Amino acid sequence: QPIDVVKLTKATIDLLKESDYYMADIIFTSTKEVFISKVDEFLLTTILTNLLTNALKYSINGEDVQIMLEFDDESMMFKIIDKGIGIPKVDQKNLFESFHRASNVGKIVGTGLGLTIVKDFIDIHKGSISFKSKENEGTTFIVKIPIVP
Ligand code: ATP
Ligand code: MG
Repeated sequence: QPIDVVKLTKATIDLLKESDYYMADIIFTSTKEVFISKVDEFLLTTILTNLLTNALKYSINGEDVQIMLEFDDESMMFKIIDKGIGIPKVDQKNLFESFHRASNVGKIVGTGLGLTIVKDFIDIHKGSISFKSKENEGTTFIVKIPIVP
């Protein structure tokens, strides 16, 4: 069913902001004010919620998290950027495998399933996910989902 992905992204962010659990702010920018595409609402909400809660909870100093939405002819691209603890190089290889958690998570709780679900849901949409990360500097996840008019 066709939905406005900009509106859905905003709604997902607003829900997260309502919870008092996270101190940091989420800064949203989009190159379009409205964008209609056929995408499963539940799947996209789950993808964004997982990536945003990761960005928030692995930013122990409470730095703001950024989410940027961009479009080209074929796909929409979500960039989720944090300045948190980062992912050590040794842990980057198997990050999308179930129960895999990096060695620097310390006391931050989690099950190691979020990214596995995210990867599955992105595959359902025939999209792709990648990330760049540096320990103690931060992480950027990039999700690309094909546009279906
Ligand atoms: P949950 O199942 O509750 O989401 P989790 O957050 O530990 O638990 P994933 O979301 O699958 O599991 O993430 C896997 C691991 O990847 C995390 O444990 C963490 O080590 C690392 N990670 C994911 N996102 C980030 C991020 N934004 N910054 C730093 N490390 C991250
Ligand atoms: Mg997680």
